[in-house]
Amino acid sequence: MTDAELRSILTDRLAAVRGRMAEACRRAGRDEASVTLVAVTKTVSARVIGLLPELGTFDLGESRPQALWSKAAELGSLPIRWHMIGHLQRNKVERTLPLVHLFHSIDSERLLNEVAATGVKLGRRPRVLLQMNASHEEQKHGFDYAELRGIRGQVRSVACDIVGLMGMAALASEGDGPRQTFAELRAFWNEQRAEWPELTELSMGMSGDFETAIEEGATLIRVGSTLFEGLEGE
Ligand SMILES: *Cc1c(COP(=O)(O)O)cnc(C)c1O
Repeated sequence: MTDAELRSILTDRLAAVRGRMAEACRRAGRDEASVTLVAVTKTVSARVIGLLPELGTFDLGESRPQALWSKAAELGSLPIRWHMIGHLQRNKVERTLPLVHLFHSIDSERLLNEVAATGVKLGRRPRVLLQMNASHEEQKHGFDYAELRGIRGQVRSVACDIVGLMGMAALASEGDGPRQTFAELRAFWNEQRAEWPELTELSMGMSGDFETAIEEGATLIRVGSTLFEGLEGE
């Protein structure tokens, strides 16, 4: 595919997603500017990603640290804000931290402490979201609601800017499953914000459920396949 063909496909798909976001905002009585699209680029090459900033999309998400390192190196001259959205091992924190605008997937107190310590060492204050086990699945990463209520004091005292929460609906969930999960996460976010006003962000919603997530209060949505399906080989 030529760059012109790719640009035309990406322009159409971004417009379609932004149109659906605007409709969901309208249904929910929300301002469109209150929701940020994070384009999840994990399935596409640096060549495809490199066309996004000129199309007005600067917030990009990657789920694997090594892929983020190599894409960020290749695209270093572009004004991209990288979001780390996948599970992060503690031994990958130091190399990842300087590249990342926002960590969505801080899923344990150990990882939070590691990110904070690395920030101190590098002289940077990390911006993070706490990933909640919103779907209550045993094998899923993330804080439980009761757990976070119990350790909130310790968590708030670490050397990170904790700016919100992130969650995912269960993979198998359909029908009202995602809505219930998102509504519960939003209720917890509101409960915490009453005493913790820095929690301004709520990251929830992917290709299959981002409109529901917006209706339920998401401020960041993470959309991959709807934008990039079929472009994996480009
Ligand atoms: C891949 C991924 C997404 C995007 O999923 P799509 O269904 O392709 O939109 C969102 N969030 C996380 C954590 C992911 O790993």
